[in-house]
Amino acid sequence: MVTKRGEEPRAVAASEPALRVIMRRLRDIMAEPGDGQARLDKIVRQIAGVMVADVCSLYLKRQDGTLELFATEGLLPTAVHATRLKRGEGLVGRCAELNIAINEPDAPKHPAFSYRPETGEELYHSLLAVPIQRSGQTLGVLVVQNKTTKEYSDEDVEVLESTAMVVAEQLVSGAVAGTTAALEISSSLSAVIKGTSISEGLALGHVVVHESRIVVTKLMAEDPVHEMRRLENGLTDLRLSLDEMLAHEHLSAAGEHRDVLDAYRMFAHDKGWERRLREAVQGGLTADAAVERVLNNTRARLMHQPDAFWRERQRDLDDLSDRLLRILAGRPGGPIEPAEMPPDTVLVARTMGPAELLDYDRTKLRGLVVEDGSPQSHVAIVAKALGIAAVARATGIVERASAGDAIIVDGVTGQVHLRPQPEVVSAYSDKARFRARRQKQYDALRDRPAVTRDGVRINLQMNAGLVVDMPHLEESGADGIGLFRTELQFMLSRTFPRHERQLKTYKTVLDEAKGKPVVFRALDIGGDKVLPYLRQEKEENPAIGWRAIRMSLDRPALLRTQVRAFLHAASERELRLMIPMVSEAAEIDLVRAEVDKEIGIMLRKGVPPPKSLKLGAMIEVPSLLFELDHLLPKIDFVSIGSNDLMQFLFAADRTNARVGNRYDSLTVAPMRAFAELVKACARHKTPLTLCGEMAGRPLEAMALIGLGFRTLSMAPASVGPVKSMILALHAGAVQQVVERFLRDGKGSLRSELMRFAEQNGIEI
Ligand code: PEP
Ligand code: MG
Repeated sequence: MVTKRGEEPRAVAASEPALRVIMRRLRDIMAEPGDGQARLDKIVRQIAGVMVADVCSLYLKRQDGTLELFATEGLLPTAVHATRLKRGEGLVGRCAELNIAINEPDAPKHPAFSYRPETGEELYHSLLAVPIQRSGQTLGVLVVQNKTTKEYSDEDVEVLESTAMVVAEQLVSGAVAGTTAALEISSSLSAVIKGTSISEGLALGHVVVHESRIVVTKLMAEDPVHEMRRLENGLTDLRLSLDEMLAHEHLSAAGEHRDVLDAYRMFAHDKGWERRLREAVQGGLTADAAVERVLNNTRARLMHQPDAFWRERQRDLDDLSDRLLRILAGRPGGPIEPAEMPPDTVLVARTMGPAELLDYDRTKLRGLVVEDGSPQSHVAIVAKALGIAAVARATGIVERASAGDAIIVDGVTGQVHLRPQPEVVSAYSDKARFRARRQKQYDALRDRPAVTRDGVRINLQMNAGLVVDMPHLEESGADGIGLFRTELQFMLSRTFPRHERQLKTYKTVLDEAKGKPVVFRALDIGGDKVLPYLRQEKEENPAIGWRAIRMSLDRPALLRTQVRAFLHAASERELRLMIPMVSEAAEIDLVRAEVDKEIGIMLRKGVPPPKSLKLGAMIEVPSLLFELDHLLPKIDFVSIGSNDLMQFLFAADRTNARVGNRYDSLTVAPMRAFAELVKACARHKTPLTLCGEMAGRPLEAMALIGLGFRTLSMAPASVGPVKSMILALHAGAVQQVVERFLRDGKGSLRSELMRFAEQNGIEI
């Protein structure tokens, strides 16, 4: 404690810690009536009194970064609201800038000291300044000064820092409102964090910080037999709780989320894990410490594994270990009781396992923000299955968010708005209302066929890749599935999905399509889509490496197993099978030979084959554009994978943010390539579709219709917007615009099409 020279500490009972006294007095101040300034004045007076300081001052940060003296006990009252320090000016400015406590026995001697005559501070020597912080943001500085020349004790620093925390809380909560309005403290606290969308949607809600970690404090077992029993009981309870959770109605349906959760449950029964836990307890640890030890050891091993599969395993183990620790600690319900969850909960977590997410009351969950994760992570799949907005890779969110903070999760752009400004909330509320209204309009169009004003019927299909996507077929009103990316099941699985599992998935997809056409795409793995259970060498240029059909042809068993599963799933039904990354027509012959062989086996076994089989090629590699007359007679349909075709046509890596969107798909080169494809397909009477992302963008879709495309396949959420555009479109008119552009051949069609849309009242 700092003691004024020759004085005894005022009004502090010797036995009562200073911090407790300050807390009590601050609480009293907040309970009393009074405006913001009066409260601030009382706060500094009390702090000065308890800390026995000659001066206590409160500086707050203005929007322009200056620090304004807002209240003082000891300095001249006329300096309040008059003294302002520039960013970084003086010791106080330095404290705010560096976010550190400054403890100077003789402040005026410090080279950074800034003398302000209006304050009358020349009398004071020692100075202790601490930042007033909340959620990583500096709101101001709290200062005590004394006439004596002395260093403040560690206890003084601690007391002032803790007091500053409470003051920050009061500032943010509005308890000193009015005074601080000019500061727009809330604006300094707002933050926008850019992450990656992993589940679409929009959530406006309040933060619940997911804190799964239980700190293990008791390490050594006093009674090893008792600890072993605790471990065994804990494991039993863990397994039972998982069974119960997975039987929950929202999750009982089949689908990839089911596979993920079943795999997770298997992990809980893993004998190796159990053995390691037992060994640790036998070695003298408590059951809790054993869980921690095994987790740490495994983490050390898995940490060096570069690929996503092992990171997912690590997350599963983290999740299970946390759950077991909670059971051992007698807190099985997790960190928050359902009753304590706000009705619009947005979970904020460093990391989150799929089962952890399911611990929360689903009816109150609106969104999820995690610091790690990726669109392929298990938790992303569960978030999608639950229909909540989710953003991953939101760096720093845990540090900055506090329980109860307002938050907006934009699962479309991947942005997270923490403690948003009223204007942002109102913009997003509008957006949410608009989305709901738009969605209603699209829903109303659901059963209307997509026909242009001049009577051209456009077939709108949707892209899918998981069984959980299938309900979107009905919801969106799509005419079928134009692209089913089968590799997703493989990427999510911990082992190679054998025939039976593949068959089950494809059958479910066909059943749930209820007779609407489904185009299955053969495995498009390799490159960056790595399967951990498949040995693959690291490649310099994976996008143009050993991927997709190239791999399948080199590993015929891979292709055969999948073809067999397709054929059996579509027994007595229609099968449409599409081959990705075809680079030359001859590759189609090889695939067809495999398919024919499998049909032969099927027939010999007496299993009825599909009643019709259509084999298609994806046009993704530009070389095929120059072999169309040779390719088209060999196939039953063509689907343009514009994502890859653009990347290879422009030599621009689609995953590289710098170049991925550099080139416009409505410029001369791609438009002429599409036009050639339309002509060639018409010559050979080969159905043509496009299933890359551009099909789902209304303006691009309009250009494609102008080129002559009559089937497009897109993300389910794009079906409504594209259909709405089609209903307002005159296909003949847009065709003329497109033909003129192809003739003139320069620049991009984009601006002209925008004008066309505007002139014709087409909403884009
Ligand atoms: C494409 O390349 O356009 C395509 C649809 O396939 P993917 O995006 O899966 O590579
Ligand atoms: Mg592709």
